[in-house]
Amino acid sequence: MQRKIIQVNLGAAGVLLTVLSYFVYYQWSGNSALVRTGWAQLPFGLASVLVWRLNARGHDVWARWAVFGLAVGGTLAAILAGLGSALGAQVYFLLFAVLTLAFFPLTQWRSALLLSTLNATLFFAFERWGWPAHPALFELPETTRQWLSSSLVAGCIAVAMALTAISEWAADLNEQRLLELAGTDVLTGLRNRRALLQSLAGEVALARRSQRPLCLAVLDLDHFKSINDQHGHAAGDQVLREFSALMRSELRAYDTCGRLGGEEFVVLMPDTDLAQALASIDRLRATLAHRPLAWIDESVELTVSAGVASLADTSDADGASLLRAADEALYQAKRDGRNRVRTAS
Ligand code: GH3
Ligand code: MG
Ligand code: MG
Repeated sequence: MQRKIIQVNLGAAGVLLTVLSYFVYYQWSGNSALVRTGWAQLPFGLASVLVWRLNARGHDVWARWAVFGLAVGGTLAAILAGLGSALGAQVYFLLFAVLTLAFFPLTQWRSALLLSTLNATLFFAFERWGWPAHPALFELPETTRQWLSSSLVAGCIAVAMALTAISEWAADLNEQRLLELAGTDVLTGLRNRRALLQSLAGEVALARRSQRPLCLAVLDLDHFKSINDQHGHAAGDQVLREFSALMRSELRAYDTCGRLGGEEFVVLMPDTDLAQALASIDRLRATLAHRPLAWIDESVELTVSAGVASLADTSDADGASLLRAADEALYQAKRDGRNRVRTAS
């Protein structure tokens, strides 16, 4: 929807720019047919500023109608007041007929169809029956009229191309954002399970090919259920967010942090051997254990247990077995009394 609003705003900018540049040229030419045309079109161009205001105030449906109303009105005014149909200005109606289908969302297909049909009808009517130009137009040299005619068609094609390019670009951007959202955990902003498993597969392949070490840690908050029980689910959520922020700040930028689900997290550590990984996860554990949680009362103690596994130590070196090994180490840490890190092996 945001994309449609941007399209309409750009369309309004296009109307304004086109009308103003032709206005300047028409006045400069001094030909009375063109001067009349310029003046007839000017109000439609200037009024397109209203489209931005409508969109800014949330009236996007009105804005869509307005931009087409002004574009069609401006073109009609130009043809009726001076240009006539001889120069082919009616080709713009064909452009508008196509653009309506792109600018209106599917839910407004009736409006789109109506406007599209109206524009197509206008184009064919002017082509079929024509409209006389203002006589002064024929005082212009033949070459000038030909140039004008080509510039009208070229302008029309340029607008269509520019809008297509912008739409494509916006669509790519949307797709990228959607992909990012699809891989992001809503609560913590870390990678979610899906994105994590994807990164894991990639990192494992890279580590094996480049013969570099790769470690993976699984972390699970201790007695997290009791925080939920004593302080409420919202407090539990806040703890999860705080812990995620701590992970991001304590670990290196090229470690990939993610939330597997619940109060279980994963850290992927490329180019890191088991000793280094153990040290950095243990540092994170110690920081958490010594850090009072400012926002709940000081008596709440939050600790984390973790299991670390290295790709080199897993028998069938793939992502799933690495994850399994780290998980087993995590359970060993829980059995050994929590608030500690264990390695697989
Ligand atoms: P352990 O030390 O053995 O890990 O104990 P625990 O209480 O941390 O583990 P358990 O698996 O018994 O409980 C996990 C709790 O996490 C239960 C569930 O209600 C809570 N939880 C899972 N997802 C969320 C969430 O998104 N928000 C909140 N607030 N709580 C969650
Ligand atoms: Mg837990
Ligand atoms: Mg758990």
